[in-house]
Amino acid sequence: MVSISFLNPLSPEGKDIVRELGSFEGISDDIPELRRLVTRNPSQEIVDDKEIPSNYLELALKRIEWYIKKKHDREFNSRRYSFLSDYSITKYDVISFYLLCQAIGVKFGPNSRETRVMVEAQGDLIQERMGKLSIQESRLMVDQSLAMLLHDDMVHWTFFQELLSTRKIRLTELVLDNGELILNEEDFLHRFGSRIKHRNPDSMYQLLIGDELKELIMVKMIMQETEDYIKQVHEKARVMVEPNPILLELADEVAEVLAEPMQHYGYGSGRSGGPMKAGPLNPLAFPPCVKKALEGIKSGGRNDAIVLFMTPFVSYARLYPDVFRMNITKRVSDQDPQLQITENEVLPLIYEAAQRCVPPLFDDQPQEKVNINAKLGFGMHSTLKMEHEGETTWYTPMSCEKIKLHLPHLCRPDDVCKKIGNPLSYYNRRIWEVMNLDKEDSDSEDNPSSNNVDNIQNSDIQNSDIENSANNENKNSDDSNSGEG
Ligand code: SF4
Repeated sequence: MVSISFLNPLSPEGKDIVRELGSFEGISDDIPELRRLVTRNPSQEIVDDKEIPSNYLELALKRIEWYIKKKHDREFNSRRYSFLSDYSITKYDVISFYLLCQAIGVKFGPNSRETRVMVEAQGDLIQERMGKLSIQESRLMVDQSLAMLLHDDMVHWTFFQELLSTRKIRLTELVLDNGELILNEEDFLHRFGSRIKHRNPDSMYQLLIGDELKELIMVKMIMQETEDYIKQVHEKARVMVEPNPILLELADEVAEVLAEPMQHYGYGSGRSGGPMKAGPLNPLAFPPCVKKALEGIKSGGRNDAIVLFMTPFVSYARLYPDVFRMNITKRVSDQDPQLQITENEVLPLIYEAAQRCVPPLFDDQPQEKVNINAKLGFGMHSTLKMEHEGETTWYTPMSCEKIKLHLPHLCRPDDVCKKIGNPLSYYNRRIWEVMNLDKEDSDSEDNPSSNNVDNIQNSDIQNSDIENSANNENKNSDDSNSGEG
């Protein structure tokens, strides 16, 4: 029988498991029973013995690794993590959950990327585990969990204030009557049955609430509890003398697992094989529309050009140029965990373009800085803060078609434009060519043109520089066309 704590380690049953363990003593010792459970799982695929978690700490890291690989690795094989959905590991899993929350709370705090990943991983893991249960089992689990989480039969919508403010749930997803949440079928039929005409009230219940909404509320509430627990740990850790070194070590290992996508999945060998490399921006590879926008908008449409066009282009070109090929939604912090590149390279370039507008955009519309942050996914706030990330979506760059429609004055197509449908694809194609040319140039000792390719950090984008870049680009384009396969 599945225990509630397998879905919600913060339930009373989960807390009992932690109490039973007592202390950190022996926390990194091997647990033969855990290895046995993992290896005997019929759906488990084991490629290497090292993949089998041997203790609580390794199991904790596997939880995070599962989420990161599932999200970023296109060759992700779920069978290598089958043990995570096997309820026979419950008591080990619960301890590993607490270890993770404590490590992250102590070292990174509640407004960190690590906390976000932990909370999202917990949500995804619950859904994964629910998917392995029979309908009857999952209904029972959801009903039991909700009974614990909601405390009361009658729940006013204000109870979900925190979930609503963190956007884990939207008000429109809830079915309310006089401000009270309706989840139970009997309650639904009692309140709405006589008002539903020409429809079967039972089907209406299934359509509007059913298993899905209940499960969603349960998952989001457990995610919120996980976040709250990390916050509590963090508060306590601030007054503690010395955090347990095991937790600090685990926190470092979590950070390593989180850094992995940048080393492996989002960065690769270039155009011919793996994903496109993310690296410093190179103005030589910018498409004509971006160069035009960098010169400054003088003929209207300043807001759209800077906020809707430049912000997504510059941020994706710098942080996640392969977004369309990878087709995996990410947040800015997935690519730039400390937001340093965003603060030091992405925003300055966007602001520079805004400043060159006539009149300078922020002189009369300083609020557009907030809109820029919103398009980067950080909500409507004046500064970029991790705690706001996810309030809005990180906008992907506009297609050429849209630019031609909404910002026609920016589009001055050249030969490369005939082969692409988005300025970002132009950039990826050109940067590969520019980088190859640069390599050829630097290989040739006599060729002084190797200095042509400057990274944008070092280049002051004055109008003359853009003109020079454009001239260089024409030359490069001519040179490279012949070699294009
Ligand atoms: S065709 Fe596309 S990439 Fe080329 S200038 Fe126009 S909008 Fe930019």
